[in-house]
Parts: sequence; C-alpha cells; structure tokens
Amino acid sequence: MLAAKMYGKNDIRLEEAPRPVPGEGELLVRVKAAAICGTDVRMLLNGASGISDQSPRILGHEFSGVIEETGAGVRNYRPGQRVAVAPNMGCGVCEQCVSGNGHLCKSYKALGINLDGAFAEYVAIPQEAVRGGNVCVLEDHVSFQEGAVNEPLSCVCNGFERSDIRPGESVLVIGAGPIGIMHAMMAKMAGASLVMISDLSKERLAMCRQADDSFCTVADSVQEAVEEMTKGHGADVCITACPSPQAQETALEAAALGGRVIFFGGIPADRQNVTLNTNLIHYKELLVSGTTRASLSQYRKTLHYITTGVLDVKRLITRTISLQEIEKGFQYAACGAGLKNVICM
Ligand SMILES: [Zn+2]
Ligand SMILES: [Zn+2]
Repeated sequence: MLAAKMYGKNDIRLEEAPRPVPGEGELLVRVKAAAICGTDVRMLLNGASGISDQSPRILGHEFSGVIEETGAGVRNYRPGQRVAVAPNMGCGVCEQCVSGNGHLCKSYKALGINLDGAFAEYVAIPQEAVRGGNVCVLEDHVSFQEGAVNEPLSCVCNGFERSDIRPGESVLVIGAGPIGIMHAMMAKMAGASLVMISDLSKERLAMCRQADDSFCTVADSVQEAVEEMTKGHGADVCITACPSPQAQETALEAAALGGRVIFFGGIPADRQNVTLNTNLIHYKELLVSGTTRASLSQYRKTLHYITTGVLDVKRLITRTISLQEIEKGFQYAACGAGLKNVICM
C-alpha cells in the first residue's frame, strides 16, 4: 500500500509499505478521508518522540474509511461498513479509563500519534479500539470527510462541555482557525446570544464570517471590542483556540465577572511558563480550566451532532487533496491557508 511515513523533523516520505494483516480481534480499514491537524504539523516541524530514521511512523488521527477485513473473533463489525474511528485508547483498567476518560489514561496510545495512523491507503485498528467502541458506523448520508473532521470536533466538545455555555450568554473565542470556528459553532448551538471571534489574520476572520455571518469578528484591541459589544459586561465565556500566551492573558482580561475561561489551545513547551495577572481570576471570581483530547463518549456525541444536522462541519473543509499531495497539504495547514485540509482517497 502507499503510505506517508514520517522519519523525523521535516522528513515525510511517500513510499510503498506492507498492507497490515488484521490479527485476532482487529480490523483493517481502507482509508477514505484523513484530515491534517495542527498536531500533525507540529509533529513534523518539531520532530516527535519515538519517531526516527529507525522507527518511522504513519501520522493521521482524524479519519474515516471502509472496513476491508475483520480479524478472527470480531463480531460487531463486518467488511463494507463505512466507519469513523476515534484514535485514543487507554489501558482499560485504570481509574480514568473506567470513568470513561481513556484519553487521560497514563498509558494512553493513539492512532497517528504513537501508533501508525491514517495517512496511508489502509490502517490497522487494534483490538482494544475495536472492543472499546472506537469504531463508529457512519450513516449513509454522512460523508467520509465529515466523519474525519468529527475527531477535532470531539476535542472541541470536551472544552465546550467544560465551559458550560448557557442560552443568552456572550462567548469570546480567541483564534479563528478551524478549531476556533468549531468552538463558535458549538457556542451558538448552545444558545449564546453573542459569539465573538478574534484573530490577527483578516483572511481567517473573513473565512469565519463566511462560515457563519452571525459571528462577530474582532481583529485588534480585543478587550475594548468585547467591552463595547457586551456593553461593559465582558464575555461570560472566553476560550483560547490558539497556542498563544497572549491569548491566555486576553481571555482573563475580556472575561466578565464570574466568567469561565477555557485554555483549549496548549502552549509550546519552550513558552509554557506564562505570566498571568492572577488577580483577574481573584477579583473577577473567574473559573479557569483547560481540556485536552476527547473522551469516546464525546466522539460519539459529536458524530451524532453531525449525523442529525445539528452541526454542519462541511463548511470547514476548504481543500481536499490526494495522498500523493500530502506535503502540499502540510504546507497549506502550516501557513493557515484555508480551514481544514482533508486527504481523500
Ligand atoms: Zn487533531
Ligand atoms: Zn487507563
């Protein structure tokens, strides 16, 4: 099969690889759509632990496809089924796993992160993922591309649930990339009366208004703009959807009294000690939290949102490319050109 293997920093090679043979309890999925994520871009730009010349890895953790083959003992799935697969796997027995938070398990593994993923014609789904319910059958009207994009949507849902947005509230999302727009869409779904999105890039803000013209976009002086739009109240909920320390500062400043702040985007390791005015948390009685990845139940929940039409993620897919064009896809994603870049096969 054709596979895009990462061998190290800025070293991705398209090559022929043996097609995986599904062992007992495993599935072989023929990949139909795999989206490129900021995490993939960071892994390729910075290198990733465990990936080297000696041990290359196939990235790709946002994907869907068709079951090609089932291993011995697989009862709940059959060849030909269209599926989207949640990439995260926990050990299954620790406290986090039994609480449904396998994505927080200390021995967490994920397809396309520390196991071979979907930037290839086929991907093997391990037994624990098959038995754990990671493989979700797509209804006929849900496209493979939508199935692939469900993964980042599920991560957004994790932050969204933590933010507890209630009808009539005002929400500020900092960062107008695909993740920021997903946050804005979910805020609107929850009944937010005012959804503001800020970004330094005017092009991104334009794409954001294209996605939904009810979103209020803010290019600069975020705190002042929020003050004005909320008549001095501040944003009930602030969500950072970019890897920027400045965004975290702005979120605390723009939050209303008693507001909730979600640090959704992580900060690069070399800048992670951020100086924040913690008196803003104290005097404004803010609740500050963060989220990472998504639980399996959130993955299923957002797939339901897509399936029922509650959320339309199609508008976030701005470019489809072939596997052969993967390097171009990474370049588009790295410079923030368009929203979601999806490899289609
Ligand atoms: Zn991702
Ligand atoms: Zn565990």
